[in-house]
Amino acid sequence: MFRFLIFLLLIQPVFGSERIGIEDFRFWDAPDHTRIVIDLEKPARYQLDKGDQKIILDIENTVVDRDTYQKIFYNDQRIKKTQIRRIKNNYELTYFVSKKYKLNHFTLPPNAKYKMHRLVIDLYDTEDKVVKKVKPKKSSLFTVVIDAGHGGEDPGAIGYQKTLEKNITLQIARKLAKKINQSPGMRAVLSRSGDYYVKLTSRVRKAQKSEADMFISIHADSVKNRKAKGASVYTLSEKGAKSKYARQLEKSENSSDIFGGEMIASSNDKHLNKILRDFSRKEKTLQSELLARSILSQLSRVGPLHKKHPERANFVVLKSPRIPSVLVETAFISNQSDEKRLRNEKSQNQIVDAIFIGILKFANNYRR
Ligand SMILES: [Zn+2]
Repeated sequence: MFRFLIFLLLIQPVFGSERIGIEDFRFWDAPDHTRIVIDLEKPARYQLDKGDQKIILDIENTVVDRDTYQKIFYNDQRIKKTQIRRIKNNYELTYFVSKKYKLNHFTLPPNAKYKMHRLVIDLYDTEDKVVKKVKPKKSSLFTVVIDAGHGGEDPGAIGYQKTLEKNITLQIARKLAKKINQSPGMRAVLSRSGDYYVKLTSRVRKAQKSEADMFISIHADSVKNRKAKGASVYTLSEKGAKSKYARQLEKSENSSDIFGGEMIASSNDKHLNKILRDFSRKEKTLQSELLARSILSQLSRVGPLHKKHPERANFVVLKSPRIPSVLVETAFISNQSDEKRLRNEKSQNQIVDAIFIGILKFANNYRR
């Protein structure tokens, strides 16, 4: 068996005999990778061995309680079976895999949303290099990329009744995609189609690759003030937001990658940064503004508005050059009545219809 050894010290060495609690195991199955997340009470040393059919993870000086223990048993399209066993003071986890994967692993310190130290292991599908990829021709269909905010390790905002923003955004995005796909001459592309995390820059890339005519990011916001309610629609401002509230929102939406469990260095994408720099933004800015107004006026028919006019903020996901891009905060998940609406099937459909009509009106009136 081919093996190689990785030995890593996490932040600082652990002295003494006190064993570190392994608090949780989580798995996220995405179209191109599976993410394994292990929550540790404190940083721990680990060792990863990669075989042909399995990956063995040894975490030193640890303890697992019975409830957590059960969570290791998992399987999906890449992981066939998992095993756990104790060897003296260490726990050895074995993941039996169905083919070869590219492994990526790193650790994340606690943050505002997670108290635990996270050990993250990604199993990426290896691309088949023999098959030459033919670049698909630009679809003649009007293409809308729908971006369901957050996902996987990043729950987004958490509601009054503990509703998770990531679930609401996905439900709305899926419904909207269905509507668009049923309309002649249009097609929808989802930036994520399940409960897994997608980097903010990958969402922008997806819009580029799909040669999208429009990019719509779906969110549901939360603030401390439980009275705040209603929808708002944002367009990009490179200068950043004006109002204090929009600045806070800008910060929380842009920090999604940290909660989603990406290494901070991953935003150092030279190619993408170049694309983002060199183009004239005027035309796109105008189109985005018109799209935002169109959606906002429809949303005003189905529920309260938080802001009557489109707002501006420096959101990473809105940075696609040339593609009109808006971010819709559908409602405040932190407000009791808004949260109820977001969870309710009928009002969810109304929100979807409003966004859809907003898109259509924009496409009919302003697109050349
Ligand atoms: Zn959000």
